[in-house]
Amino acid sequence: MSRIAYVNGRYLPHRSASVHVEDRGYQFSDGVYEVCEVRGGRLVDARRHLDRLDRSLSELRIAAPMGRAALTQVLKEVVARNGVKDGIVYLQVTRGVARRDHAFPAPGTAPSLVVTARRADPAAQERLAEAGVRVICVPENRWPRVDIKTVGLLPNVLAKQQAKEAGAREAWFVDAAGYVTEGSSTNAWIVTTDGRIVTRPAESGILKGITRAVVMEAARALGLVVEERAFTPQEAYGAREAFITAASTVVMPVVEIDGRAVGNAHPGAVALELRQRFHAFAEVT
Ligand code: PMP
Repeated sequence: MSRIAYVNGRYLPHRSASVHVEDRGYQFSDGVYEVCEVRGGRLVDARRHLDRLDRSLSELRIAAPMGRAALTQVLKEVVARNGVKDGIVYLQVTRGVARRDHAFPAPGTAPSLVVTARRADPAAQERLAEAGVRVICVPENRWPRVDIKTVGLLPNVLAKQQAKEAGAREAWFVDAAGYVTEGSSTNAWIVTTDGRIVTRPAESGILKGITRAVVMEAARALGLVVEERAFTPQEAYGAREAFITAASTVVMPVVEIDGRAVGNAHPGAVALELRQRFHAFAEVT
């Protein structure tokens, strides 16, 4: 089945789908995005992802490209046309196409909407979770508005590449005060030696992950204690467990941070249980 992308009202062959050279997303990173997990052909937590999209758009004063119901329909259509059972759907909204000028274009300039979908290999994901992943820490160098899910991801790109070159899967940013903020594309968590689950509060320094919110609900429902507070790399080195969360990876155990084994160097029981139970707490559309 050949891949199809949605671009501004049209379903196009993926290989030839394109936006205009003066799209503001292309020239200024003037746009936002969302990634939703697809499971069994259905959208996971679409409502929460679209709530966050609305917030990102309104923080940047970009108009919504269409209403919620229509957008949900496009997401489902792209998933269906690509025959995606398990994978992700990606959506991006930019401030549209206009003559290059930093200031906003004329009112009424239509925002651009692109939607793509991609299959994942659930068996490969499970194998990765059974092995666990490595993380390195890097200095935080992003702008303070990381609560907005913008396509301006250059620091994240460089951090992920640095991790890859170091044989790791993810890089955790560490702020000027010495605390972990989040990963380049995931939220960061530890489990303390006395079994408390710790993740940074969403007030500053992180994207308020949808997976993070559902994992917090799941953990509490399972009788686990969740503490929203910042932690340092040093605390993480000595933690019983660590893990990362994102829509594309759900809960992924971390077994090594900066070359130091976490816990017994194997995926932790809490991370694996949260991974296993996650979808009982997520919504499907
Ligand atoms: N932080 C960053 C920087 C991310 O890019 C992502 C994934 N988009 C997350 C956290 C996790 O968010 P979510 O659980 O909503 O995918």
